[in-house]
Amino acid sequence: MPSKKVIYLGGVPIGGGNPITVQSMLRSSLSDLSSCLQEAWRLLEGGCEIIRVALYDEEQLSNLSSLKRSLKVPLVADVHFVPELAIKALLSGADGVRINPGNMRKVEVIKELARVAREEGKVIRVGVNLGSIPRERRAAYEDDASAMVDLALETIRLLEDEGFENIKVSLKASDVMTTVKAYRLASRVMEYPLHLGITEAGPVWEGAIKSAVGLGILLADGIGDTIRVSLTGDGLKEVEAAYVILRSLGLRKVGVEIVSCPRCGRCEIDLERIVREVEEKVKPIRKYMKVAVMGCVVNGPGEARDADLGIAGGKGKGVIFRKGEILETVSESKLVDRLLKLIKEVEGDEDE
Ligand code: SF4
Repeated sequence: MPSKKVIYLGGVPIGGGNPITVQSMLRSSLSDLSSCLQEAWRLLEGGCEIIRVALYDEEQLSNLSSLKRSLKVPLVADVHFVPELAIKALLSGADGVRINPGNMRKVEVIKELARVAREEGKVIRVGVNLGSIPRERRAAYEDDASAMVDLALETIRLLEDEGFENIKVSLKASDVMTTVKAYRLASRVMEYPLHLGITEAGPVWEGAIKSAVGLGILLADGIGDTIRVSLTGDGLKEVEAAYVILRSLGLRKVGVEIVSCPRCGRCEIDLERIVREVEEKVKPIRKYMKVAVMGCVVNGPGEARDADLGIAGGKGKGVIFRKGEILETVSESKLVDRLLKLIKEVEGDEDE
């Protein structure tokens, strides 16, 4: 079940069964505003709905304000060690802050942060990372998942004591099953929205798979209200991977879903090239549609018929389907251009 509480981050509802939002984090330093802006705009074009940026120096606060003024999505400042800086981030325009209870120990300042966040209508993410929990504290628990959840609860109580409840929680570990265990436990003992992620998941290919496995297990059980796929690589890949995960589970219908076969000896067109070209060109499309690109007549017509658009390959040619009906047969050299033209038409169609 989704979180019982709904919070609003910069006006965007999170939790309580609202659409699961996709977020990412800037690679650029906040000291370089122009680089942050370029990166953020690219993420927004890809469908990123919440942007986080690392804030580690008071001198970056004016850039934080400028970044916020330029973006149309919620902006979260990621602050470690110094709760005083988190307070200043909220007063400088950030919609929320992520704090890490594993490295923030000034109880009185955290309470002050809660009071400021309450007065300003901002959000605090209690973002526990297993790697930040002191070793001796971890050793006191039966397992790492319990250590993570207990640390989050301790911080939540501090915030609640100040009358603050605009909270979301993350419990991230690089180990998939530890993360799954922690979120499952948290979903039973807290009502706040959960921000899901597998931290330090790895390079793009491996990290996307690990994230899909971990987040998929949780999301399929109804756990999770906003997600970030953490990848060592282009942030846009994080957003793309997040939407594929959500789309695979039927939780968000956004973008072009490509159904394509692995090809085999029966295939008589250059299917890989065709799929690669189509995949690259359809990335900016936000409207949901299913496009099947199949190598031959064995499964091709069936899949192509079930999709909004489809190709079933033949010898140096392909049969194009639209909404289950054969539209035309096109030579291989013209297949990609023709399919992209039809995709554009479907994008422009009114929803039926
Ligand atoms: S659709 Fe045809 S080419 Fe593709 S894997 Fe199946 S049999 Fe092979």
